[in-house]
Amino acid sequence: MNEHGEIVGITSTVPVEILYAAGRVPIDINNAFITSKDPAALVRRAKMEGFPDTTCSWICGLYGAVLERGIRTVVGVTGGDCAETIALMEVLSLRGIDVIPFSYPHGRDPVSLRAEIDGFAERFGIGMERAEEEKKRLDHIRRRIHHLDRLLWEEDKALGGEIQLLQLGSSDFEGNPDSYLVKIEDRTAEIESRKPLETVLRLGFTGVPPIISDLYDAIERDGVRVIFSEVQRQFTLPFGGTIGESYTRYTYPYGIFARAEDIALEVRRRRIDGIIHYVQAFCFRGIEDIALRREIGVPVLTLQGDLPTQVTETMRLRIEAFIDMLHRRRERG
Ligand code: SF4
Repeated sequence: MNEHGEIVGITSTVPVEILYAAGRVPIDINNAFITSKDPAALVRRAKMEGFPDTTCSWICGLYGAVLERGIRTVVGVTGGDCAETIALMEVLSLRGIDVIPFSYPHGRDPVSLRAEIDGFAERFGIGMERAEEEKKRLDHIRRRIHHLDRLLWEEDKALGGEIQLLQLGSSDFEGNPDSYLVKIEDRTAEIESRKPLETVLRLGFTGVPPIISDLYDAIERDGVRVIFSEVQRQFTLPFGGTIGESYTRYTYPYGIFARAEDIALEVRRRRIDGIIHYVQAFCFRGIEDIALRREIGVPVLTLQGDLPTQVTETMRLRIEAFIDMLHRRRERG
């Protein structure tokens, strides 16, 4: 319990309007993991408690973060996200943690999703009318983050690295929507006051958010900017609507083809020169790279991370070679 209510950990984006309407405080455990003082120690803790060496570091980190933060209730996205979450929830339940599943339906079926959302709201004793009211409050903040995204790609006033962090925060509004809005407004005022940044190459970033803390810094140098962060933007529910509509339009849980359609559209709209596809070691989403490359029509560099560390020399060289290739491609017209 914090001063605002009981904390509920979430393993991925879920309808947080229901949690806020119920007086709970959602905390995205991914953010708790990656912003902890020593994320690598959280991964080590999971490994020492028996998580196999081939487990994705995000899953290990989620486990470590739940224990570190003393979270007693966890909503786990067991459909439309990661199969490893199911095992994670089982292990957490062994520790006496209350685990609540939330599942996005296969095939993006709005009727099934609505039934899932209704059940979720019922579990927290909340009617959907009250939850929709809460959504209006949160949507105001989301619209302000969409404005930041436009400052990034239409007005060239920001770096992708700074905007993606603010987008990531919208999965839980850092547990306090009012203070998150203040943070967003402060950053917006500062970014609006800037002159446009010199931009030579416009890149997109797709795939799960990176576990490597300085990856955006390593990419965004010498006029190269990341002007589209696919998954982070999806967390801000860019397509609006009611709760049912928004979480049906949200692409992340619905497979690579739903995501690739959105990515291809943004590649054209934002005039993107190339895509960095970030994949996590031991993650099934690495296989989706095959479909992604077919669908989007611009060069793709696939980078794989494992532990929460910094960019390696090999990774830095691969980024530089990719950027050189894009420069030559641009010169050839
Ligand atoms: S990176 Fe892949 S394997 Fe790891 S938690 Fe995310 S979806 Fe699961």
